[in-house]
Amino acid sequence: MEEKLPDNPDLSGDTCLEPEENRAALFNSIAKGKIDPDLIATIYDRLDVAVWIFDFDDKRFLWANRKALEVTDAVSLEELRSRDLSKDMSPAVAERLRQHQQDFCKQDVSFSEIWTLYPRGKPKVLQINMSGIRLIDGRMALLCEAREHHKQQPETLRSAEALMHTTVMISLYSTDGTPLYRNTAARAACNSLDTPFHGHFVEPRDALEFLELVERDRTSGRVARVRTSAGPRWHEVTIRSSQDAVSGQPAYLVSEIDVTELHETKERAQYLASHDTLTGLSNRTYLQERLAQVLQTASDRDQMATLYLVDLDDFKTVNDTLGHAAGDSLLQLVAEKLKHVAEPDDIVARLGGDEFLICHLEKAGPKGPDWFGRELLGAFSTPQLIDGKPRRVGLSIGYTQYPEDGVSIDDLMRHADLALYHAKTDPTDKCVRFRQQMRHLRDEHLAIKKDLERAIRVNEFTLEYQPIACTLNDKVIAAEALVRWNHPEKGLIYPDDFIPIAEETGLINQIGLWVSRNVAHMQAQLARMNHDIPLSLNVSPKQLSDAQFVTHMQALPRETGCNPEKISLELTESVLLGDIPNASETLSLLKSTGYRIVIDDFGAGYSNLAYLQNYPIDGIKIDRMFMDDIASGGAIVKLILSLANALGAEVIAEGVETIAQRAWLLENGCHRFQGYLYSKAIPEEQLMSMLEAQVEAAAM
Ligand code: C2E
Ligand code: MG
Ligand code: MG
Repeated sequence: MEEKLPDNPDLSGDTCLEPEENRAALFNSIAKGKIDPDLIATIYDRLDVAVWIFDFDDKRFLWANRKALEVTDAVSLEELRSRDLSKDMSPAVAERLRQHQQDFCKQDVSFSEIWTLYPRGKPKVLQINMSGIRLIDGRMALLCEAREHHKQQPETLRSAEALMHTTVMISLYSTDGTPLYRNTAARAACNSLDTPFHGHFVEPRDALEFLELVERDRTSGRVARVRTSAGPRWHEVTIRSSQDAVSGQPAYLVSEIDVTELHETKERAQYLASHDTLTGLSNRTYLQERLAQVLQTASDRDQMATLYLVDLDDFKTVNDTLGHAAGDSLLQLVAEKLKHVAEPDDIVARLGGDEFLICHLEKAGPKGPDWFGRELLGAFSTPQLIDGKPRRVGLSIGYTQYPEDGVSIDDLMRHADLALYHAKTDPTDKCVRFRQQMRHLRDEHLAIKKDLERAIRVNEFTLEYQPIACTLNDKVIAAEALVRWNHPEKGLIYPDDFIPIAEETGLINQIGLWVSRNVAHMQAQLARMNHDIPLSLNVSPKQLSDAQFVTHMQALPRETGCNPEKISLELTESVLLGDIPNASETLSLLKSTGYRIVIDDFGAGYSNLAYLQNYPIDGIKIDRMFMDDIASGGAIVKLILSLANALGAEVIAEGVETIAQRAWLLENGCHRFQGYLYSKAIPEEQLMSMLEAQVEAAAM
């Protein structure tokens, strides 16, 4: 017999149980001795229904009654048994039988299906009732009771055939969710044959949503996560309201296709398109969409929302000096901290580079609008481990509030950006809220930046020198170079008005090279004129991270003939606090070239005296704010003087404006002073004449 096994499951689709009563009565009679057990075989042979037992494992008939021999066109039971059905069995049929075997092992069920058999090549359509039967050796075999099936029309047969072989999973559920029918594919996929509709979905609310929609529109469909025998999978589920062909009751016809791979690929692609791969935060593209949602929620609930822009200070320096891997790990560290400080429903995004955005929907509570910024700055108040070393990470935060400071995303972003700009330029306030007047200041800064670029190109800078004198004899013993900008329209501009912008924009590097070359020339020239006084120049922290600066400073003695031992580099305390990567190494290089290192504005910043010992420091300039302290005893200045003494560093008092201040300094052993009392900064020629006059006076 050629196999053409399972053909058509009954389209009514039910798994029905054959009445057991007759058989029970029969066996009862045998037990009571009324019927000879040998008669059973005869009884089976008299039945007009074909009955056989099929061995799932051997793929052979084990036993068949007379009608079954007739149906299968067999000459004898032996001949039927000798047929090896596995030879021509298609994989689909084998799979189907394997499934039946599994189903029967799991539970006591029976299926009514229509199969087409091909005994000796002739098709025979049978309505077969199938159930499991345990063999003596414990294995599960297939018990079939079959009747010839004449009613089916070719179309129905074909569609039933298609239903069985399709990979689309088709199930029918009653409206209370009880399963009525599953096709082969659905049976193979489902966790258990009697899982109700609601239990099919991983997310219970998916089931409810589907039913709500199908009740309303008669059909609904989308991708959902479902439970299957292979674990949770993504299925494209379509549900239609229909009828059970057997009972005529309303039912849901569910068809499903496994789209797991496609769905996961899509999700991954979507994730990649909307997230920053380095930090895992939302990216700029996704941000717009999410911001719109948050602002909508804020507006619906009459709530405030705060938008923070966070920018790392000197990130470029970290990248340039420590390498991109260190830069990347710093960005990841910041992203982690941001996520940690933010609340779960806040938006945390990386806008690109070292700029981050947080949008926080205000909750009721005592937290002020700047709580996030404060907490974040707090999280970075201690040094962070980057590249295995503890380093300070500076942050600037600008924020703006919805709806008070703006209602559109564009306005809020622009305003937060202006506030950030202010935070970046103000070393004392790193968390700044937007104010209307900021727009004007920003324009001014941008104009200065453009102007500065031109000034560098055409060299509009000049140097003035402020003498440093001796408290013992009032003689000039040194001078500090101070840069001025000779603006063609605005006249002389002082450094406080352009150095911060030059630092922020990196233009300070070019200005710094110019200043140092000029000071070097001046020192060489003074030496030639026998005015061998030391000169000092100011160096911005940024310059120390500029690799070009060190090589330039190393070349200066050769290029200009200056003596580096007569040139002091004035640096602010921040350099020593670990803000600048590799500061200590750079200072050592400069020191080994011969330059002297002096701490400027000492005491104005963090005043951690302990760090001074770790650096090759030659001198300290006491910040001019301490001159006021002198009137009330000068305790701090005394402390600084004794500290400098202990370190072997020389001390210069800055901003000395009164005779009393100078007298106090002399009395307390501070012999170098600088300030308006002695002289303001003066042009180079004037310094030279001052020195000439000093020599002449000494000669008299
Ligand atoms: P600084 O290095 O602390 O320079 C001292 C500043 O105090 C100078 O201001 C000087 O004119 C002023 N000053 C001197 N004596 C007195 C006094 O008795 N009373 C008062 N009230 N002020 C006094 P200036 O020239 O405006 O420079 C300001 C700052 O700009 C400097 O502070 C320095 O940090 C920076 N700067 C100046 N030139 C350069 C430069 O070439 N490169 C860099 N990176 N920064 C520079
Ligand atoms: Mg200075
Ligand atoms: Mg100073």
